[in-house]
Amino acid sequence: MNTMLAGFVKAPFGFEMREVPIPDVRDDWALVKVDACGICGTDMHYANHLATEWQGFGHEVAGVVMSVGAGITHVKEGDRVVLESGSYCGTCEQCRNGRSDLCPRGKNFWQNPTMGFAEYILAPRECLVPYSGLTPEVACLTEPIGVAVDMVRVADIALGDEVLMFGLGPIGLMAIPLARMRGAARVYAANRSGGRRAQVAAAFGADEVILTRDNPLTPGHFRKGGVDRALVSASVEAIGQAMPLMRYGGILSFIGIQYGDGARISFDANDFHFKKLQLRASHAAPALYFPQVLDLLRDGHVDGNQLISHVMPLAKLPEAMALVRDHREEVLKVVITP
Ligand SMILES: [Zn+2]
Ligand SMILES: [Zn+2]
Repeated sequence: MNTMLAGFVKAPFGFEMREVPIPDVRDDWALVKVDACGICGTDMHYANHLATEWQGFGHEVAGVVMSVGAGITHVKEGDRVVLESGSYCGTCEQCRNGRSDLCPRGKNFWQNPTMGFAEYILAPRECLVPYSGLTPEVACLTEPIGVAVDMVRVADIALGDEVLMFGLGPIGLMAIPLARMRGAARVYAANRSGGRRAQVAAAFGADEVILTRDNPLTPGHFRKGGVDRALVSASVEAIGQAMPLMRYGGILSFIGIQYGDGARISFDANDFHFKKLQLRASHAAPALYFPQVLDLLRDGHVDGNQLISHVMPLAKLPEAMALVRDHREEVLKVVITP
């Protein structure tokens, strides 16, 4: 009863499932029993590159509060919560100037010995967001949908915009209904290959799904000779491919992590200048908008169940990671349940 199963990762692509002590509750921290934790592209980067030592991982968490430290009053034992993967402090210069989205000092659980791929997780007060009315599997999508919300906000989509969503991983798929709600007149969804991702893109409101492997993107493909907004959740090369598709005054929002020598962005500087384009990075740290996302899920504006392709037990975490790595076309969100 005093130990729990927890997953550990070490690059390149090593995993261990260990029995470790259940963490002790501290003043401003709560012990949360994990009900569901999604696998994310970031987990892949830890497995492939970032985890130079064995470490815990998993940051898309829905669970139940088991016990709270003395400093926590907004949730109590038995409450269902989703966890911000990083919060904001409320006291730094950026927070006090109304820019909590730029807070560099928010609490998080990334330094814990174990994280969301475990039976229990210790989470700081600021990260605990109560929820109800959703299954844990769907609720754990709150964190990645917040990432998609940030990408769509950064792109400043306005009423009547023609929008290209480039890259149909889970984040790209989540962004499609959000772009529609922001007022996009037409949403083009582009992905290298088809399969399940293309199907969900259409179900989520994409007007057209373009498979770039057979159909390289050219301005002539678009009814207005290009798009007003591009959302890129793909490799960095995709930015260079999307730039020539932008209409006058277009904004391109990019989210993606790529390490190594390939991580250089290049595009035509004259085109960029004369077309008055903007390239903006989206990075949802701190993780904001959780209450809004929970409402979007509950109201069915984003159909969480369609995003989940696999639910697997914690003991099968290594197999689940391999599944995500090896079957990109058929895998959407893989959710781990202890
Ligand atoms: Zn994530
Ligand atoms: Zn702050």
